[in-house]
Amino acid sequence: MRILLTAGPTHEPIDPVRYIGNRSSGRMGAALAQAAQRAGHGVTLILGPVTVAMPADIPRIDVETADQMLQAVLREFPQHDLLIMAAAVSDYRPKSVAAEKLGRHGGLVLELEATPDIVAAAGKLKRPDQRTVGFSLEAAGDLDRARRKLTQKNLDLIVYNPASTIGSEMIQATLLWPGGRSENVTSRPKAELADILIQRCIQLLAGGRR
Ligand code: C5P
Repeated sequence: MRILLTAGPTHEPIDPVRYIGNRSSGRMGAALAQAAQRAGHGVTLILGPVTVAMPADIPRIDVETADQMLQAVLREFPQHDLLIMAAAVSDYRPKSVAAEKLGRHGGLVLELEATPDIVAAAGKLKRPDQRTVGFSLEAAGDLDRARRKLTQKNLDLIVYNPASTIGSEMIQATLLWPGGRSENVTSRPKAELADILIQRCIQLLAGGRR
């Protein structure tokens, strides 16, 4: 299986030195990359500015913004069987980027606009032999929101996890499939969830054409 895996946050520039970002470390992405390698799959990484080490022998494309990640995903996805979108893409970005470092004058109002939905864009383009998997980090217990995203983004599997797992070594998750099937994964190291998830991804592809 050829897996395209995104991980880490995106940074959306405000001016040449400041950005909007989030606390994603890329740790789940690193665990998934290692699990996929252990299982003998080919992996391409598309990474936002991650703060953890990635396996050195996996090809990687480094990006900074949601827009750059979108371009890289659209370019690479046709050569892969599966997209796992573990990146914590910034939902908003400044509508305009200041050319010079902004000065400090009492207060500042930033106008934000939504970033492109990368996994939804890939979901629109996917061939019958391709699959897309997303993550849904939500307030505890909000599985309905995760289920809505599964449908809206045309995903084949979504991993719901509570916001408390961000940056942590451990993760608790619920896997949700179209049609109502679900699997609860109790709290465990991210490496173990990664192994489970890669197995479930193989099953998605082994299931044949959609
Ligand atoms: O941010 P949200 O909860 O909607 O993220 C759900 C899934 O959608 C994640 O897999 C995330 O990587 C993806 N996403 C994306 N592009 C965005 C926002 C989220 O691909 N702009």
